[in-house]
Amino acid sequence: MKIETIAIHAGTIITDSNRPVIQPVTLSTTFEHHEGSLIYTRANNPNRMALEHVLTQLEYGADAAAFSSGNAASMAVYQALPAGSHIIAPDDMYHGIRKQLLEIFKGTHETSFVDMADLGAVKAAVKENTKLIWVETPSNPLLKISDIRSLIKIAKTYGLLLVCDNTFATPMFQNPLNLGADLVMHSTTKFLGGHSDILGGALVTREKSEFWEKIRLVQHVGGAVPSPFDCYLLARSIKTLPYRMKGHHENAMKLAAFLTSHPRVEEVFYPGLISHPNHEIASSQMRGFSGVLSLTIKDGPEKADEVISKLKYFTNATSLGGVESLIERRAAVEGPDSKTPANLLRVSVGLENPEDLIEDFKEALEY
Ligand SMILES: *Cc1c(COP(=O)(O)O)cnc(C)c1O
Repeated sequence: MKIETIAIHAGTIITDSNRPVIQPVTLSTTFEHHEGSLIYTRANNPNRMALEHVLTQLEYGADAAAFSSGNAASMAVYQALPAGSHIIAPDDMYHGIRKQLLEIFKGTHETSFVDMADLGAVKAAVKENTKLIWVETPSNPLLKISDIRSLIKIAKTYGLLLVCDNTFATPMFQNPLNLGADLVMHSTTKFLGGHSDILGGALVTREKSEFWEKIRLVQHVGGAVPSPFDCYLLARSIKTLPYRMKGHHENAMKLAAFLTSHPRVEEVFYPGLISHPNHEIASSQMRGFSGVLSLTIKDGPEKADEVISKLKYFTNATSLGGVESLIERRAAVEGPDSKTPANLLRVSVGLENPEDLIEDFKEALEY
């Protein structure tokens, strides 16, 4: 099956003898005991089973676990590691997960933040207690590209797990498990949900390992699971994921090209541009470049804020991956410990007409 077919058919499990075409929402928290029955919705639920099934198929994995948020999914990975583990994480990564490592697992695990583009630095960071390499590519918010194949080679050499946050690329454009990664993580709140109305996360595994069993334990017993309705809504959104992603990619390519040529723009960060320092690596592991780009405004952060206020179709809001375009000045959101340039705007390019989006930027950049 190709991805468009998987997206439509793998997220539906029909058990009702009336044979509805769409899977109903099973709100029941408990199930009557019988041979092979489900027991309790925290442990499992028909809508979550259907969602986990489509996620497994989309990433070519062996199994998937759905969580109540992307952050709950990454928490499960760190909770499944033995105490005293050392983790190698990217220097540019989703700030909420960075905060988990720095503040929640401060006394439990140890983390080295390295530039993942520098393979020598990754190797040099490996220690006796290193257990895991965390990869995020493209990264948030600088759209840095990590070479997944080379990082997997390093992980295999040293016997480390490799987990890839695939939120920005989505399974439409990148499948890290096919390259040899152990786990893929998603914030399904973003492109998979696609309409800015579901909070969710997921992990997909290449193999059913002992480590995966621990993750399942954290999911079931830790209890950060999504509701049946959220699972239903997400499985519904996934049906249009391939077509939405084609649109996000096309619109972002066009907007990136326009912004690159604009005199008020200092730099555009988008892996689809030939000028991106790792465009070739991106092209070797991605089938499209997705819908997030960042840009820096030459005249500084105040002008950047002014541009945001003048845009008509880009809402000044956090998050990304919805059908509507969003923009924000990341440094202002990440707070005083942010390492993001103050004049950087992160754009989630929506599915509006690309000419309208370009026209909107053209007018907002006139000052
Ligand atoms: C949003 C995001 C997360 C966190 O997901 P939530 O659903 O907000 O908990 C993790 N990684 C990336 C790349 C993200 O964009």
